[in-house]
Amino acid sequence: MIRLKKYISPYLGFIGLTMFIKLLGALLELLIPSLMEVMLDEKVPQEDVRAIWLYGGLMLLCAGGCLFCNILANRMSAKSSGKITRSIRHDLFQKLQSLSAKQMDELTIPSAESRLTSDTYNVNQLLARLQRLGIRAPILLIGGIFMMLTMDPVLALVLIGLLPIIGIVVYFVTKTSVPLYTKQQGVLDRVVRTVQENITGIRVIKALSKTDYEKDRFHQVNSDLTAVDMKAGFITAITNPVSSLTLNLGLTLVVVIGAYRVHSGAILSGVIVAFLQYFTMILNAMLGITRIFVMWSKGEASANRVADVLALPEDLVPLSPAEPEENAPHIEFRDVNFSYTGIGKNIDSLSFKLSHGQTLGILGPTGSGKSTILNLLLRMYDPDSGTVLIDGQDIRTIAPETLKAKFGVVFQNDFMAEGTIADNIRFLRELPDRDLYRAAADAQADFIAEKEGQMQAEVMVRGNNLSGGQKQRLLIARALAANPEILILDDASSALDYQTDSNLRKALRSNYRNTTTVLVAQRISSLRHADLILVLQDGCVIGMGNHEQLMASCSEYRYLAEIQMGDGKEAV
Ligand code: ATP
Ligand code: MG
Repeated sequence: MIRLKKYISPYLGFIGLTMFIKLLGALLELLIPSLMEVMLDEKVPQEDVRAIWLYGGLMLLCAGGCLFCNILANRMSAKSSGKITRSIRHDLFQKLQSLSAKQMDELTIPSAESRLTSDTYNVNQLLARLQRLGIRAPILLIGGIFMMLTMDPVLALVLIGLLPIIGIVVYFVTKTSVPLYTKQQGVLDRVVRTVQENITGIRVIKALSKTDYEKDRFHQVNSDLTAVDMKAGFITAITNPVSSLTLNLGLTLVVVIGAYRVHSGAILSGVIVAFLQYFTMILNAMLGITRIFVMWSKGEASANRVADVLALPEDLVPLSPAEPEENAPHIEFRDVNFSYTGIGKNIDSLSFKLSHGQTLGILGPTGSGKSTILNLLLRMYDPDSGTVLIDGQDIRTIAPETLKAKFGVVFQNDFMAEGTIADNIRFLRELPDRDLYRAAADAQADFIAEKEGQMQAEVMVRGNNLSGGQKQRLLIARALAANPEILILDDASSALDYQTDSNLRKALRSNYRNTTTVLVAQRISSLRHADLILVLQDGCVIGMGNHEQLMASCSEYRYLAEIQMGDGKEAV
């Protein structure tokens, strides 16, 4: 909690006031039994009706005042804890946006989601509860004991002797439940992750009849969660029965010992009635304190999980700008090495140059590092060694916004939002309609004209009402719409038929002359016209050059060309 103090300190005054009101309420509550004792033991025997009314009225006033204070303070606590959590959530969301791809890989998306939702909720609950019970419970506990001691020390000491039972239980419960709650959050992350993977891949899972496997997988994480839940539940469940037992034991003792003491004339019978109330109050206060401890262990674990993310350092630190090199190529990779995990290399000593308006084709089997090159170019990750340059400038020296603005990108499995077709092409940028139509035409998205409502036709979540090819065309249109300096297409034409693919390439060649294009494709026909083609295998370049050069020098390329295009000369 202390790690989130920055968020709490602006509200300290307000929280102080809330707790002061709670304190007033608790003091008024403490007065009620002792007023009753005076009424029963002094005023009733005197048959002083006016005094009885007066004391009755005072008790009512105390009860009313206590109710008022509690309602007011509870509302205030809801307000401050709500506001504090809102600003924590706000900052956490922003932090998550700023994390590098590497940090996100380590954190994992489901964990980020649960930190943003259930963890901030736990923090909220802790803050609210601390304000509601943090002062009230200890005051009722100490005040109740004090009042009992002043009324009858002997009877009070008997009852106080019972309190350590609860004390020990509280200690035991908190000690064992704190690690369990931390573990519970971790398992919850795994449940969310499994569900998310399952839902995202539901079609594939069904198509490949993996449903049983997925059910088993979910069953496993579900059982793990149940096991931790049950363990935590079993431990915390000891508290309530033990306290009820202590309460009933105490109440019986008050009546039995009290009766003896009344009989011997040490106390009057009103004291017994007051003691019954005080003892109940004290036990409830102890239970309140237990609840604070349990909430504390949960809230503290969550607060740490939130603070861990907030404390993550900025990963992709911008370097101070340097003078760009003269006559530099548009894009250059200079001896770049990179590994996602530090084990093995995902990109091995990659160097190439690309001039303005040129096209780079990247070809290679799955997992060979094609998308990784694009990730490095977009600075999703920084290389372990070597440099990526644009216009002779190390991309680490370019401001992130400036860098992003250079690119038009279609990723593999790209994102389609719910909204109209126009929304999806515009994608929150300020672009005139003219650009949308131009981009759609270049992306060969003629299907838009046939849709009802055309540009205003609705796209469902994840583009579920579009075919694979239609989705790809819309995504390409989105990448082209802002007339980017560098166009990146990662397997963006795999679902297009040969004719459309060829039309798309023609449109790119004639309408985007100054755009430098990086093209990842499985089909040689898609990139045979590229100025430079990289053939990758396991992160290494095994062939580099244009189509003709590769046909002559790279056996893997030639082999692919032969199986895909017959003799490899056929123009598509
Ligand atoms: P495909 O044709 O299937 O898209 P690719 O050539 O684009 O393949 P990459 O995505 O670049 O392949 O992946 C290269 C290697 O890096 C793979 O072995 C992959 O397992 C690994 N890899 C990719 N992304 C990550 C990541 N976020 N964390 C760890 N390893 C990764
Ligand atoms: Mg890829």
